[in-house]
Amino acid sequence: MTALPACDALVVGGGPAGSAVAGLLAHRGLRVVLADRAAFPREKACAEFLSPEAVRLLDRHGVLPRVEAAGGVALRGTTVTGPGGQRLAGEFARAPRAPWRPTGLSVSRRELDHALLDAARAAGAEVRERCAFLGLLREGTAVAGAVVREASGRELMVPARLVIGADGLRTRVGRALGPRWHGRPGRVAAVAHVAEVDDLGATAEMHVADSGYAGLNPLGGGVANVAVVAPARRAAEARGDVDGWLFRELDAYPALRGRVRRDQVVRGALATGPFAVRSARVTAPGALLVGDAAEFYDPFTGEGIWRALRGAELADAVAGPVLERGGPVSAAALRPYRRARRRAFAGGWAVERLIAWAMHTPRLFGRAVGRLGARAGMADTLVGVTGAFVPARAVLNPVFLARMLV
Ligand SMILES: Cc1cc2nc3c(=O)[nH]c(=O)nc-3n(C[C@H](O)[C@H](O)[C@H](O)COP(=O)(O)OP(=O)(O)OC[C@H]3O[C@@H](n4cnc5c(N)ncnc54)[C@H](O)[C@@H]3O)c2cc1C
Repeated sequence: MTALPACDALVVGGGPAGSAVAGLLAHRGLRVVLADRAAFPREKACAEFLSPEAVRLLDRHGVLPRVEAAGGVALRGTTVTGPGGQRLAGEFARAPRAPWRPTGLSVSRRELDHALLDAARAAGAEVRERCAFLGLLREGTAVAGAVVREASGRELMVPARLVIGADGLRTRVGRALGPRWHGRPGRVAAVAHVAEVDDLGATAEMHVADSGYAGLNPLGGGVANVAVVAPARRAAEARGDVDGWLFRELDAYPALRGRVRRDQVVRGALATGPFAVRSARVTAPGALLVGDAAEFYDPFTGEGIWRALRGAELADAVAGPVLERGGPVSAAALRPYRRARRRAFAGGWAVERLIAWAMHTPRLFGRAVGRLGARAGMADTLVGVTGAFVPARAVLNPVFLARMLV
């Protein structure tokens, strides 16, 4: 088997997490190889919503001008319609802490992920597309690189001091490091692009039904990103006809009936799931996980891309200096990364679990949406928290929670 020259870091996966961490490490002058099994630009099942805080991180990675030039819509916030028609409308600019800028952004993942990958390449990372991870190389108990397969079928050994698993929801790197834990609610999703959608505003729309939810996100020119999330037990019904399944699921949302038409699909539905999954080992000697490979709970709050980019920064902050010093990357050296992730994400994890828990009881959820919509400032606080620029304690406190329900 051919072996590539040894590198400092091998990043598996060129989504937001992988490209961002590869770019940051390459900026330090480290030798970085990034391997993705896809050829870019590629599609990704995603509602394509970015909060102002995610937009700030795109700016930091230098890709915001390119992403904005590619289209998309500046988003003022999010509206949520509950199972009984209750409604809340939260605006970023009215949140209790000022966002980096007043608007978020909806942008196609095709454009966004390609821009981030090119930025990693420009920073000096060696990018290998159509190159799939097969397995880890080990020296004793430590990870020492990986075996990848090119499109030609040729297998390559890539010796690396650090392997970074950024290979998404179904991570093979994560599974090679340890078990993946599946929790509740196990949900699946389908996402399409549909033209001629009536009444699209400058906000993302979430519509919650008794056993799932749907999202509508304007992409510009009357085209919307249409996403449906449903219990995983219904996934089998989508087999062979994901578009058909998506439109049957949409029937459960009276407010969307007639607005989203099957004859206007401009990009067929992509299916993904199940969610609520995390890797038991986020770090190991010579390896760490970022983005969905580490954990992904549920798409409702639209924080996944922000978390992927922020996680990449945390990984770089911990692993970068260790790699610069030379020598092996021990488990102890990577432990601060796990602590940093907990500090950065624990509040968001709690809020998304609270929302998922409330959704199990549609009457409770509807009541909460009604109260949040009716009481000044509460919906704006919530979108600030789910947008990751207002601390989670603004929601996770007895006064806010009581006002939400009573
Ligand atoms: C239905 C849905 C809607 C969502 N909506 C939003 C939203 O509106 N806003 C938001 O912020 N987040 C959203 N998310 C979450 C968001 O999509 C993810 O959190 C984000 O993409 C994570 O980035 P990542 O880089 O970790 O993984 P990915 O973006 O999944 O990238 C992983 C990469 O790894 C590559 N790969 C996989 N396996 C291999 C392999 N064996 N070898 C080599 N390469 C491999 C893939 O080709 C891919 O390019 C949504 C998620 C879902 C499921």
